[in-house]
Amino acid sequence: MANTTKNEILIQYWDKSVSTLATRAVNKISEPQQERHRLYALLAMAATHYFWNGDKRGKNGRYPMNVPVTANSSKYLKGDYLGHNILALAVDFDGHIIDFEMNHNLIYNSSAEHAEARLIKRIFSLASLADTWKFEVSGHDQNDYNTFRDVSIYTTLESCSQCSGVMALAQVKEVIYLQTDNGMYLIGNILRNLTQGTKLQAPNPIDGTEISLPYFSQLNEAFDAFCKTVSESKPFFIPTDPNEKVDASKSVTSFLCTESAYRIFEAAKEELGNYLSGKTPLRFPDYQPSRSVTNLHGKSITTESTMTNKAVIKEIASFYSYIQINGRRATPHR
Ligand SMILES: [Zn+2]
Repeated sequence: MANTTKNEILIQYWDKSVSTLATRAVNKISEPQQERHRLYALLAMAATHYFWNGDKRGKNGRYPMNVPVTANSSKYLKGDYLGHNILALAVDFDGHIIDFEMNHNLIYNSSAEHAEARLIKRIFSLASLADTWKFEVSGHDQNDYNTFRDVSIYTTLESCSQCSGVMALAQVKEVIYLQTDNGMYLIGNILRNLTQGTKLQAPNPIDGTEISLPYFSQLNEAFDAFCKTVSESKPFFIPTDPNEKVDASKSVTSFLCTESAYRIFEAAKEELGNYLSGKTPLRFPDYQPSRSVTNLHGKSITTESTMTNKAVIKEIASFYSYIQINGRRATPHR
């Protein structure tokens, strides 16, 4: 087909196979850095577990594959399902947790209220106010959109095209995802390749295997098992009203309501708890990532993050308490 674009990077891929565009090199991440990533990944999973609600189709019916939702729990707004069990977390270079968000599709009756996009918009809007959880805006020029240049986003599910686009525009450094979403056709890889070397480079995708997170393959395998199991005779949801249809779709967000998914998030929560209590010692407690930055004189200098992995544990403990008291993103804003 004739070349219909003037985009120079896209032209390079024009006559190549789709796999060339959708494939990226494996990230070689050092063990100390993997440990650091895993701690935040565990926090994202533990927080998802905390706000868990499996009642995707409302309360008038049965969910044979789910654990029951505690109807009177305040964190669920009396059991209402506000969005899918998907959470995103933003962390800066030093290791400070900037903020988190959850999927809110249901409460807004929208298909676009995803965790990552909500998180980016939230931080952009709060960055000027300095009115969020310990986010230090000093050193950031609010007008040149540098807010996310050294920010890692941890998301429990691989990002869609909307969120990948929003994160690319925000110049997020990297996105660490904890489960594959085959419905999203490797858009993160494709965008990364198509923006290589440009000013608006899309975030570097990192999957759970690259940080040695066992829950990544567990979630992927459990989702495959769900797809093989769910059927009209073994539905995800059976409505009380016999005139309504049962839900037997092979949906990843339905899977993320089931007990098998819940147990994997629970295991992550317990692993995090063992780190926080000191029962599981860190292998690299004194590790501090470093980066090269250009100083005012145009010289490249190396700086270290202010927080060691040991300090990250403290940060996570504080944040984990915060979300359970004030950070109620799974309820309407208040
Ligand atoms: Zn999305």
